[in-house]
Amino acid sequence: MSRESITYFGAGPAGLPTTVLETVAAALVNYKSLGLGIAEISHRSKDAEEILNSCKKDLRTYLGVPDEFEVLFMQGGGTGQFSATIYEFVSLWVERRRKAIAEKKKDEEEVQRELEKEVEELKIDYLVTGGWSLKASQEAARLVGDEHVNIVTDARKINGGKFGKIPEEEDWKISKNAAMVYYCDNETVDGVEFPTFPAILKNGGGEDEPLVVADMSSNILSRPIPFEQFSAVFFGAQKNLGCAGLTVVIIKRCLLAPTAGRADPKIMRKLGLPIGPIALSYDIVSKNNSLYNTLSITDVFLAGQVLKKALNTFGEERVGGQMKVSGEKAEKIYGVLDKRSERYSVVANKGARSRMNICFRILDDEGKVSEELEAKFVKDAAAEGLTGLKGHRSVGGIRASNYNSVSFEGATKLAEFLEQF
Ligand code: PLP
Repeated sequence: MSRESITYFGAGPAGLPTTVLETVAAALVNYKSLGLGIAEISHRSKDAEEILNSCKKDLRTYLGVPDEFEVLFMQGGGTGQFSATIYEFVSLWVERRRKAIAEKKKDEEEVQRELEKEVEELKIDYLVTGGWSLKASQEAARLVGDEHVNIVTDARKINGGKFGKIPEEEDWKISKNAAMVYYCDNETVDGVEFPTFPAILKNGGGEDEPLVVADMSSNILSRPIPFEQFSAVFFGAQKNLGCAGLTVVIIKRCLLAPTAGRADPKIMRKLGLPIGPIALSYDIVSKNNSLYNTLSITDVFLAGQVLKKALNTFGEERVGGQMKVSGEKAEKIYGVLDKRSERYSVVANKGARSRMNICFRILDDEGKVSEELEAKFVKDAAAEGLTGLKGHRSVGGIRASNYNSVSFEGATKLAEFLEQF
C-alpha cells in the first residue's frame, strides 16, 4: 500500500507529512554532506545547537510564545511530566513557603516546625476530566500521598460514571493555597476538550499565585494558547509536533530564576517530600539549553521540519490558521455523526467535544452499541484507506484522531464513509 492511499487517524503516534519524513530520512544518512547522519552527530556540536535553536525559535513564532516563557526540550513523555510537575512545583512551593516563614521567624528550628505544619496541609489540585488527567492525579497520589491530592472536579460524577462532560466551573472545588492546579486541555482517550481555557485558573505562577499547569499533549499546535494564564504547559511531540521521544515544556522564566529557588533536597527529605531525578529538573535543563544530558537531535530536527512546513502553510496566521482548518475538519465529521444519530452516538457532550479525538459508538437498529458493527466499521474503513480508527482499548468504540497531519480531503473522505456506512 502506498502512503498516498492512506489517511491515518491513529491517536499517537500520529501520521507525519511525507515531505518531512523524506527530509529526515536523507538527513539520517548524510546531514549537510558531513558524511555522517543526524543521529550520529554529537548533541554538543554546532550543527546540533543550530537545529535545536532553530526548532525552538520556530515553535516560539508559530505559537507566539511570550518572552517571559522559556521552551525546554526534554525526554520521558507526558508521563514523565506527570511526575516532573510534582517534583518541581512542590519543591518550588516549599521554598516559597520557607522564605515567607523565615521572614517572620528567625530561629531555624521554628521555621522548620512551621514548615512541617504547612506541609501537613499541602494540597495539589487536579481537574479530572478524562483518562490522562486521572493518571496524572494518581501519580501525584503515589508521590506525595492521597491526602495531599485534591480532586477539584471528577467529570465522571455528572455523567453516569463515564467521562464525556466538563463540570461547570462554579462546582469546582479549588483548594485555598494549592501548590499547583493541574488540568489536561484535551483528553485523548475520551474525546473531551476544554472549549476555551478555564477562566477560573487565570494568572498562574506569579508571586503568591497558584502554579497552573496544563497537559496539551494532544491538542498542541492546533489553537493559540493564552500563556498569561499558565505557569507551564507541557506536551509530548508525537501527536501534532513530531515523533515520540521528544517532550516540550513551556514555562514562565520567573519560575526558573535563581530567586524562584527550589527547596534544598535536605529540607525535602526532612519533610518526607519527593526529590526528582536531575534529568527532569526544569532549572537544570533550562540552564543547559536543554542539553544537560544527551537529547535526540533527530527528534528535534523532525519537529523543526514540521514547524517549518506549518509556518510556510499558514504564513502570518500561524497557529490561528491551523485552528480554522482543525475546526472545519472536526465540523465535517461531527456533522455527519449528528445527522445520522440513529447509527452513531458521540461520546462527549456537545460543549466538551474534542476537535482532535473524535470518539463515537456505532448503534444497531435497536439503538444499542454494537461492537460487531464497530469491528466491521474499522475493517471496511481500512479497505477504503481510512486507518487507525479503533478506539482506545480501555473504552472501545471508534476514535478518529483529527490531528494536524490529517488533510481536509482525508477528513472529507471519512465524513463520506460515515454517510454511507
Ligand atoms: N497526556 C496526554 C493527553 C496523552 O494523550 C498522552 C499519551 O497519549 C500522555 C499524556 C502520555 O504521554 P506519553 O505516552 O508520551 O508518556
